[in-house]
Amino acid sequence: MARILIIEDEIDMAQGLKDNFEFDGHEVSIASDGEKGLEMALTTSPQLIILDIMLPKISGFDVCKAIRHKGLATPIMMLTARGQEIDKILGLEFGADDYITKPFSVRELLARVKAVLRRYEDFSASIPAQFNQIGKLKVDFAQYRAMDEKGEVELSHKEFEILKFLLLHKGQTVSRDQLLNEIWGYEAFPATRTVDNFIVKLRKRIEDDPDHPRHIITVYGIGYKFVI
Ligand code: CA
Repeated sequence: MARILIIEDEIDMAQGLKDNFEFDGHEVSIASDGEKGLEMALTTSPQLIILDIMLPKISGFDVCKAIRHKGLATPIMMLTARGQEIDKILGLEFGADDYITKPFSVRELLARVKAVLRRYEDFSASIPAQFNQIGKLKVDFAQYRAMDEKGEVELSHKEFEILKFLLLHKGQTVSRDQLLNEIWGYEAFPATRTVDNFIVKLRKRIEDDPDHPRHIITVYGIGYKFVI
């Protein structure tokens, strides 16, 4: 059972989905334009968002972008029309989790929603609440505290956010642009060089030998990979 937000201006479609989700035991709210939908996404902490692309006021693309730039990882399932740019929807630019092309069967949508929710639960459970060992550091992301063997270590908010992002994507290669988008958001326009400077600082904190890093590995021409 999850709290689901449906952002869809076609009332019949929205109501039909709501009935089906409620029948499955979910708690459902509906927003019928992009502006209202974005506001509800940010204030009512839904666990899943069903997001239509063609919406009045703010398009589904921009709603999705705005949600991600606020740093929310809420799973988003996009409702698309045939021919819409699928690669973009799932890519870094928009960051949706899945999409389904209209017209679709309700049964298929419910199955996909179940899969997305399951994936998200695994993802959320993958960061333990207490201290995470990151190289030399122990980091508590809930309280923004970090310690090494000598005691408390001061990290900036951005440094915490970068470590958290790397930890959530451990074993994967993360591009500089991805880090810029996730940590700085698009309003700041920092140079990719900024990311490199932060990584240099973080290596000094977590690596035994910052010149030969074992945890934050450079992937040439792309970005970084975090290894526990
Ligand atoms: Ca629509």
